[in-house]
Order: sequence, then structure tokens, then C-alpha cells
Amino acid sequence: MKPRPPTPAHSPDGKAAGGAQARPDLLARLAATQAERARAGLLRRLRTVDEVEGGYVWIGGRRLLNFASNDYLGLARHPALVEALAAAAARWGVGASAAHLLGGHREEHAALEAALAQWTGRERALLFSTGYMANLGVVTALLGAGELCVQDKLNHASLIDAAHLAGAELKRYVHADAASAARQLETRPAAAALLATDGVFSMDGDVAPLHELAALGQAQGATLMVDDAHGLGVLGPAGAGSVAEAALSQHEVPVLMATLGKALGVAGAFVAGRAALIDGLVQDARAFVYTTALPPALAAATRTALDLARHEGWRRTQLGVLIAHFRHGAAARGLALLDSRTPIQPVRIGDAATALAVAARLEEAGFYVPAIRPPTVPKGHARLRVALSALHTEGEVERLLDALVKALRGNDTIPTQTP
Ligand SMILES: *Cc1c(COP(=O)(O)O)cnc(C)c1O
Repeated sequence: MKPRPPTPAHSPDGKAAGGAQARPDLLARLAATQAERARAGLLRRLRTVDEVEGGYVWIGGRRLLNFASNDYLGLARHPALVEALAAAAARWGVGASAAHLLGGHREEHAALEAALAQWTGRERALLFSTGYMANLGVVTALLGAGELCVQDKLNHASLIDAAHLAGAELKRYVHADAASAARQLETRPAAAALLATDGVFSMDGDVAPLHELAALGQAQGATLMVDDAHGLGVLGPAGAGSVAEAALSQHEVPVLMATLGKALGVAGAFVAGRAALIDGLVQDARAFVYTTALPPALAAATRTALDLARHEGWRRTQLGVLIAHFRHGAAARGLALLDSRTPIQPVRIGDAATALAVAARLEEAGFYVPAIRPPTVPKGHARLRVALSALHTEGEVERLLDALVKALRGNDTIPTQTP
């Protein structure tokens, strides 16, 4: 859990009103945590985008070439999606007006679930309002208190939080290391166990060793769950994701989860698998039961996005060209990349303050590439997360590479403290 700064007293004399034991003031503690973060150069900053224009965003009055978006296929602003959204809104209105089980589940949701199941080669699929909620819903429905949840150390925060919410015993294994996962499972061979991994790691861009993990799941009787938020639309035949690329069936990967807000350019998430899984989630996934259904118009727009993602293979081809261009160009310039073949191409920095300074210099040069710092990544592993999109051109990638070299060169003069 996160370290807390010393707790400020509730009142100056350390006594709460009524003379009882001093109780921590929650808001004062939050402010103290924030001050501590600021000192460490780890403060997060909320910035408003004033305008989006092709591959550019306007922030703080400046036009920046955007390398921060998860819109890998360039679908978020596609006119066909906007049209589908508007047409469905005209028919259904905006809100779903109720939870799925209480009249919120519309034909648009059902049609999207069928299309997602078919695309990913699963029997059924179930929509959730966000990926975060899908992960909470699945893990808490599957695992009871004290049961085993074995996860990659670099899994998304929502999977980690889900294990905590389930009250499961969370054991994390060395990143992408199936042997390490096996050792964690062997600690409790008789316990009900979920083995969970990101398909594509969100801050590193590498792909999980899915074949080895599937074999391990089978051998140990552990249920394998893959969160393919960053693989869907990008990897595999017709963009069906990392699990499809690995040709793993719903028997080998019984729980497939992916989001609709990344390559599909919309919002929401789904879980896919056998009918028994989906029927069980409808009963027991509280993040599904106790929340308003996704707006039906979003489901309609997502169905259009799915068609484009599936059939317009040129978007993945273009991404492949850009990824190769970026990696060759980076190697030629001596830039330190991580081992990734996906649109997520992190540039290693290390120290958080340096990462911030380099990102600021890139912004001055007209590029939006945010620094990723702890606790999102481990301490000492701060980086720039370059995200490529089919909307970028090779010329733009080339300009980014040149700007990166310049921004990194300025490093010698960077103070080690946050500005
Ligand atoms: C983004 C993401 C999520 C959360 O999805 P949202 O729909 O944004 O809530 C879950 N898992 C991974 C790996 C992600 O990258």
C-alpha cells in the first residue's frame, strides 16, 4: 500500500472535539501526500485539451503532434463512428436509463456482444461500462476470499485492485516469466486459482508469453485470464487480438477481457468466453449488475468501429510500417527503446525528474509525449511512452525521432530536482 506522510493532528492540541483520541484529518493527510509527491517530482498534472485536429491536439494554446493516444487505428474521430453514434442516439436517446438487468440492455448491446464474441472466436461476450469495472467484476465473481490470484508484476492497476477487492491472496510473478508464475502457483497446489496477465503490457508494449501461460494454466488447473486492452484491433488475424494471434481457444484462455476505448476508439469493455462464464458473470459480477448500462449509441458506434477494425487491414499495415520506422530510426540514433513490436514504444529514461524535463522539452518543440513515472511504472523506470497511430505519417515519426534526440541531449543541463 502507499506510504503515508506523518499524520497531521486533527486539532492543534492533538485532541478531537470532545477530548477523545486524536483522529487523522483525511483531507489534511491527502494534502500532505500531495506535497510529498510534488517534492519527489511525482505530481500528476491534469491538462485540458482544447481542440483535436487530425493527429494534433491543442493544449495550453499550442498545437502539438500527439503521440499519447491509444487510438491506434485512428478510429476515434472517424465520420462513420460519429454517424452511427448520432443515428443511434436519435433512435435510443442518450442514456440507457437503467442497469442491464432492469431494462437497460438494448438491442444495440446484444448485437455488439454477438459481434465481439464472433470476432474473438468465443461463444459469448458481456459488455461492461469500463475496462476497470470489467476487471473488478470478473475477478470478484471468480475468486473468493483467501483464494489465489497469480499476476504478472506489470499487470494493469485494475487487475491488481480487482484481486484486492476479491480479498484473494495476490502473488505477483517476475514480468513475462512463466516459470516464475509456476512457482507462485505451486505454493498452493490445491487452492482455486486465477492466473491473470495483460496481453500487451500497457506501459511497456511487449506481449505476454501466452502459449506458456496457457500450458501452465492447464497443467496446474488454474484459470487463465488475459486482459487484451492493447492487443485488440492491433494484433492477430483481422485484429482479433493477442489471444487470436497466439491461436488460443476459449478452452486454453477461458477468460478474455478487452476494452473498447483503445484501438476501437469508443469506450467500455467486454469479457468473452464460454456461455457458462458469461451466465455466471450476469449473476455475480457486481460491477455489471449494479451499474447503468453503457449508452446504446456507444454500442452502435462500437459495432461500426469493430467492422472498420476488422476489415480495414491497411490500418494495421500502416501501424506496422510506422513501428518499424520508429525502431530503425531510434536504433540509428542510439535511443534506448524497450523490446516492443506494438504501437506502444517506450523510450527509457530512468529518473522521474529527467523524464519530466525531456517531455517538457518535447512539448516546446511541438510534440505531446507524456512522461510515465512511478507509481505507474517501478521506481527508476520512468520513461516517455510513445504511442503510434495509423493516422501518423513516416515523416511525422521522423520529426519525432529528431526531436527526441535533441530533447535527450539537453539532459546534461537538467537539474535533478523537479523544476
Ligand atoms: C486501459 C486499460 C484498462 C482499463 O480500461 P478502461 O476502459 O479505460 O477503464 C484495463 N486494462 C488495461 C491493460 C488497460 O490498458
